[in-house]
Amino acid sequence: MTKGELLYEGKAKKVFRTDDENRCIVSYKDDATAFNGAKKGTIRGKGAINNRVTNRLMKLIEEKGIPTHFVEQISETDTVVKKVVIVPLEVIVRNIAAGSLSKRLGIPEGTPLRSTVLEFCYKNDELGDPLVNDWHILAMDLASKEDLAVIADYAQRINHILGELLEDVHISLIDFKLEFGKLPSGEIVLADEISPDTCRLWDTRTGEKLDKDRFRRDLGGVEDAYAEVFDRLVGGA
Ligand code: UDP
Repeated sequence: MTKGELLYEGKAKKVFRTDDENRCIVSYKDDATAFNGAKKGTIRGKGAINNRVTNRLMKLIEEKGIPTHFVEQISETDTVVKKVVIVPLEVIVRNIAAGSLSKRLGIPEGTPLRSTVLEFCYKNDELGDPLVNDWHILAMDLASKEDLAVIADYAQRINHILGELLEDVHISLIDFKLEFGKLPSGEIVLADEISPDTCRLWDTRTGEKLDKDRFRRDLGGVEDAYAEVFDRLVGGA
């Protein structure tokens, strides 16, 4: 499959057209941004790690019966995916309080939540991806009631699948962000990426942060943390 015209360039990935109108090529970059683009940097090796970690997780999720956009990895940083129309929602799943939830609700970081929290943010950089609820989503027609039910079900099942896998390699899944897309058939599939850029991952035994918070909060050891997640999830596989 050949890489065609650049369709879209995001903060961490580029998306290219291919000779098949139903396929795109996603190319992962080492660029990192935080706080809606206000903080910029480079994490050496991140593109290759996020590509391979995402693909490992997408394959597992697909095996467990949840459709994804994944087709095949074609290089260290590039992957062929199904072309979808992205549902303009960031779907956030939380098991342990951290980040914006801790700030907004005054729950100290690291506090286990009695039950899983599902949040939706409207994907809109100008507005800073504001939190929305089901009523906003339906009123703004960001997703239909049926699609929203499917997305919520998939998000919870993915939480179980990833939680179990990560527990085996002594990583706690604190929270993560998912995006979904729609195929021409109308089918909802998991899209985008699942990586240390989009998850909070804490070493179960030491509590050490193994994710993008090391970059956001200037904690140092960013590259080592990404490499550690890669080794534990993909290295032995
Ligand atoms: N997240 C993401 N992209 C975003 C916002 C959040 O991947 O644009 C992920 C983030 O890495 C974390 C989870 O979603 O794993 C929850 O993030 P939160 O709402 O706490 O926001 P943050 O504190 O990261 O700004």
